[in-house]
Amino acid sequence: MQRRQILKLCSGVAVLPLLSAYAAAAKIVIIGGGFGGLFAARTLRQYLPAAKITLVEQQHYYYSAPYSHFVLIGARPPNSLRYAYDAAAENIDIVHATAETIENNQVHLAEGRKLPFDCAIVSPGIEFDYSGMSGMNDADNQNNATTRQQIPHAYRGGKQVQQLAQQLQAMPDNGVFIIIPPPTPYRCSPAPYERAALVAHYMEQHKPRGKVLILDPKEQFAQQTLFSDWWNSYYRQRIEWLSGEGGGRVEHIDAATKTVHTEFGEEYGDVINYIPPQRAATIAQHAGLTDSSGWCPVNPATMESQQQKGIYIIGDAAALAPAPKSASCAMSAAAVAAAAVARVLSGREIPLPDILESICFSHITPNIAFSEQGSYFTTPTLRREQVNLTPRHTAKETLQNIAATGRVWHQQTTAALFE
Ligand SMILES: Cc1cc2nc3c(=O)[nH]c(=O)nc-3n(C[C@H](O)[C@H](O)[C@H](O)COP(=O)(O)OP(=O)(O)OC[C@H]3O[C@@H](n4cnc5c(N)ncnc54)[C@H](O)[C@@H]3O)c2cc1C
Repeated sequence: MQRRQILKLCSGVAVLPLLSAYAAAAKIVIIGGGFGGLFAARTLRQYLPAAKITLVEQQHYYYSAPYSHFVLIGARPPNSLRYAYDAAAENIDIVHATAETIENNQVHLAEGRKLPFDCAIVSPGIEFDYSGMSGMNDADNQNNATTRQQIPHAYRGGKQVQQLAQQLQAMPDNGVFIIIPPPTPYRCSPAPYERAALVAHYMEQHKPRGKVLILDPKEQFAQQTLFSDWWNSYYRQRIEWLSGEGGGRVEHIDAATKTVHTEFGEEYGDVINYIPPQRAATIAQHAGLTDSSGWCPVNPATMESQQQKGIYIIGDAAALAPAPKSASCAMSAAAVAAAAVARVLSGREIPLPDILESICFSHITPNIAFSEQGSYFTTPTLRREQVNLTPRHTAKETLQNIAATGRVWHQQTTAALFE
């Protein structure tokens, strides 16, 4: 699929350039160069060929979280998920800096510079909230940077994934890998359970007596029936899942002794993978874009903030339930925000896409996967249109095809953004 086709798929409309004097002089600042922010920037450039579009991104390289479990188990080299901004920089101004806050139509950078804007799009992703976990929070921890390195969440892609991979490799043959998933809502709801499956797959080959123990604060989890079926058929008793009420609720993590304390007792983990509760990234809070839920309320028809006019929030940071926090949904929301911003700046009646599309692939092995594809109407209120989940008892050959489709989806999506 070509980039223009992906744009069309996400937005439902072909993007036509808009040439007006005001639109040409317009300044747009986009915060975050991930799936949402970069797609918004590239789509807006098509609508507004002459506008000043500045993308603020704190990192020089983007690391994809989708497919990072392949890096974790050594099925992909780490650099295959690392992407540079060179191609995007050919027609968008990219500023590598941290945005600290937004005030009076200006984005304030940590380095002191201020970037004025007519419209801003904010797609900074997520932040982790360690405050509720004894042993990992600031109060209990003089040295939490080290502790958090010893217990990597590995939930953003990049360095922490490699740290967790090293811990997995170093564990003994009969080691226990503990995963502590977050409560909802959080980024990519099936991902902790896909992680369990792929770690079990790694153990089949490298840690024959190893075990994966999932200590979950929740009573149920995304796509539970499918995961349970396929965990059982591929990995027999290797994966154990405990619900919150069944002993999964973790009260304390002791990084030094690698011990996890639950309501029911203690568990030793050769590797402990705590994925903390999540909220919108810090810049969204500093800019006053979040509500008491920690996420950013938006008008789903345009993605404009409910708290501040002229600022549009997309991606995982936005409160868009029941739509999932996924890369594909972030790009769909980016298409809405780009059209809405172009409409405001050009004064023309640009049609706004009225549907968000999401596709998520969950692997059981590197070559076997199932998928969930969802469509969500944005007007008059955000609602689920349809969700297609791979049925139970699907033939192996079909699951292999889904895995291959997932790889193509990722390759084409990242190419559309970064090439
Ligand atoms: C293991 C795993 C598997 C996944 N698999 C899938 C999948 O199969 N399909 C799917 O659709 N989704 C998947 N996802 C979810 C997907 O990664 C996210 O939904 C997606 O990255 C959200 O995009 P975003 O733009 O909101 O945030 P991000 O992609 O996280 O981008 C945010 C960017 O903003 C930057 N930033 C943050 N704060 C600042 C600041 N103050 N100043 C400057 N820059 C800043 C960050 O550096 C980052 O580059 C998966 C996630 C995980 C963890």
